Amino acid sequence: MQLEVVAIGGYEEVGRNMTAVNVDGEIIIFDIGLRLDRVMIHEDTDVSKMHSLNLIEMGIIPDDTVMKNIEGEVKAIVLSHGHLDHIGAITKLAHRYNAPIIGTPYTLELVKREILSERKFDIRNPLITLNAKDTMDLTSNLSLEFVKATHSIPDAVLPVLHTPYGAVLYGNDFKFDNIPIVGERPDYRALKRVGKKGVLCMISESTRVDFEGKTPSEGHAANLLKNDLLWTDNEKNGVVITTFSSHIARIKSITDIAERMGRTPVLIGRSMSKYCGIAEDIGIVKFPENTRMAGDPTSVERTLNQVMKDGKEKYLLVVTGHQGEEGAVLSRMATNKLPFRFEKYDQVVFSADVIPNPMNAAQRYLLEARLGLMGVRLFKGAHVSGHAAKEDHRDMLRWLNPEHIIPAHGDFNLTSKYAKLAEEEGYRLGEDVHLLRNGQSLNFERIM
Ligand SMILES: [Zn+2]
Repeated sequence: MQLEVVAIGGYEEVGRNMTAVNVDGEIIIFDIGLRLDRVMIHEDTDVSKMHSLNLIEMGIIPDDTVMKNIEGEVKAIVLSHGHLDHIGAITKLAHRYNAPIIGTPYTLELVKREILSERKFDIRNPLITLNAKDTMDLTSNLSLEFVKATHSIPDAVLPVLHTPYGAVLYGNDFKFDNIPIVGERPDYRALKRVGKKGVLCMISESTRVDFEGKTPSEGHAANLLKNDLLWTDNEKNGVVITTFSSHIARIKSITDIAERMGRTPVLIGRSMSKYCGIAEDIGIVKFPENTRMAGDPTSVERTLNQVMKDGKEKYLLVVTGHQGEEGAVLSRMATNKLPFRFEKYDQVVFSADVIPNPMNAAQRYLLEARLGLMGVRLFKGAHVSGHAAKEDHRDMLRWLNPEHIIPAHGDFNLTSKYAKLAEEEGYRLGEDVHLLRNGQSLNFERIM
C-alpha cells in the first residue's frame, strides 16, 4: 500500500489551495487556487501575463515544484468549487500535468473564463463535467464522488476519492445550510453513507472553526436584508447594495426584495455580470424578469446615467466593491468617477464582512468615511458566512468518523484550533490528526 497526502498550498494561509493525493503512483490533485491578498500587494502587476515561477516566488500561487519529488502520474485535477482561491491558479499550473480537469458545471464555466483571459499559458487540459451526487471512475482503482455541499457560491461539492484503502474526503469549503435560497441542502445522507463505508482521511477546511455554534443559513441573511431594505424609510432615496459577485444566492435574495420594493434590480460591475450571467445561462438561478446587468465600462456608464435621469428611487443597485476596492464600482460611485451622485439619506448596504487584513480595513474605512461625509446611511449587518463553524465541524466529524484528519485552509492559528476540536472528539495530534505545512506530506504506509 502506498497512500500519501501532499500539502501543496493553503496550509499556511487562507488562499492558494492545492492538495495532491498519491495512491499507488496514481495522483489526484484537488484545487489549484490563488492567494488573493498577495495579488493585492502586487497590485501594479498583471497576473494574467506573468510566469508561474515568479508567481510562486511572490506567494500568489501554490508552490507545486514539490511535485517533482513525488513518484507517480497525475491522473486528474479535481475542483471543489469556483472561488478563485480554489481555481484561480489553474491557468498557471494545469498545463504542467497531462490530466483532465474535473468539476461541476458552474465551476467549469468559471474555469473556461479564466482560461480565456490568460495571456501567458495555453491551457489545453480536457474539461470533464461531473454533477453533484454523481460518481465517475478515474482509473481502475480510483473513483470520484461529488457529494452535494453548500457554500457561498453555487454548485460546490465535497469531492470523495474512493480508494482500495478507504475514502479520502476533500472538505474545502463547506457550510451546512438548510435554507440555502439557491440550490439544495447538503447531501447529509451521502456523507453518512461515506462515513459508514470507511473514511481513511479527511482533509478539512478550518477557516471558521474558531466560531462557536453553527453558521446561520442564507435564509437568515435574506431576512436581515429584508429588515434593512423593506423597513427603512428609503422610498424617496437611492439604495445601493454591495456583496460578493459570486454569491448568487445572496444576489437572488436582493433582487427578490427589489421586486417587493417596486424597484428595478440592476447588477453592476464586470465580475457581478460575469458570475450572475453564467449562473442564469446554465439555469442555476432565475432573477426577476426586469433584472438588468451592466458589466463593461460603457454599459455601466449608460446604466447609471439612466438611473440618475429616471430617479434613483426607481432602482435597487447591486454593485461590486464591498471591500472598498479602489477600482470597483462602489468606490468609483463615491468619488464621482461614475455618473452617479450620492445624496443625504441615500442608503448603502454592505452585505459582506471586511476580509480581515489591514489593506481591506483601510480601503473600507476610506469608502465609509466618504459616504458618511455625503450623509449616506450605512447598513452593515446583513451577512452570514459561507464556512462551517465549530459545531458544524463536530457534526461532520461524527458523521464521517475518519481514521485520520488533516486540517487545511488556514495558518497554524486555525488548523491548530481544528486539531483541538478533533482532540475533543477523541483524536490525538500527531497520531491521527496531523498538522502539515506547505510542501510537507503525510505517508499512510508509515503511520499504519
Ligand atoms: Zn470557497
